[in-house]
Amino acid sequence: MPRCCIWGSTPCSPFPESSIPPEHIKAVFELRLMCLAGFAPALDRCADCGTHTPADPRFSVYGGGVHCSSCRPPAQGKSLPLCQASLAAMRHVCGADPRRIFSFTLDEPAAARFYRVCEEYALAQLDRGFGTLDYWRAVKE
Ligand SMILES: [Zn+2]
Repeated sequence: MPRCCIWGSTPCSPFPESSIPPEHIKAVFELRLMCLAGFAPALDRCADCGTHTPADPRFSVYGGGVHCSSCRPPAQGKSLPLCQASLAAMRHVCGADPRRIFSFTLDEPAAARFYRVCEEYALAQLDRGFGTLDYWRAVKE
């Protein structure tokens, strides 16, 4: 059996014949795992003003919440840009039935934002690096 891990250290995939990109699987796994581990992000409303449709949304990786670009983030530290599509994808992953968790698509800019936020959120909340993630980055280049 190939060596697999949380950050997919090898090119193995649970969907070997699938057209789902490995980055997509990795991001979904990271975010859903954080939810299952008790670190579910607060995505339903802006952490500052409370609107359910944050304008130009951003995500606070340390606060674990979404906020409007003009509102105060829920915690100090890095706040990453989202968009309506990447925010919807995060909401989907956190709440979807496991059988439907990959049932969404994103265009390239939204996917890049989704992948970055999922990875950085996991790293910030777990407060550590992973050798396998370093390897993943090395083989992706
Ligand atoms: Zn707001």
